[in-house]
Amino acid sequence: MTDAQQVQIPEGRPSLLQVRELQKDGKLIGFRCTKCGRTQVSPMYRCSCGSFDVKAQDLPLTGKVVSYTIQRVSAEEFINEVPYAWAVVELDDGTRVSGWIGYISTPKDLAIGAKVKYTSAYKPGVQFEKA
Ligand SMILES: [Zn+2]
Repeated sequence: MTDAQQVQIPEGRPSLLQVRELQKDGKLIGFRCTKCGRTQVSPMYRCSCGSFDVKAQDLPLTGKVVSYTIQRVSAEEFINEVPYAWAVVELDDGTRVSGWIGYISTPKDLAIGAKVKYTSAYKPGVQFEKA
């Protein structure tokens, strides 16, 4: 039996908790690999290219809907939000992020390519609204 491994957060990089706090301030924080340019919203300390040279940075708060599905059944935390769209959004810098958009009940409510903006949410996940 081995001891539980402790996750080390590299110096200068925010923890997931810190990222959540920053997002409450209306910021969308991403992690960009300086070697290959891969950027994602979920904290990464090592890129899929193998590089550990990952920097946290602000991401654009606007983008467009690339794809989505309409959720009519949800986890308990979103029980009062259904139906809503679970969308892939391409931010203005090209970073893709999945998030949710409220008040979407039919495909007529949200076009592919629609402009959306990030909104600081009291719910978990990344929330967007139509711009
Ligand atoms: Zn990389």
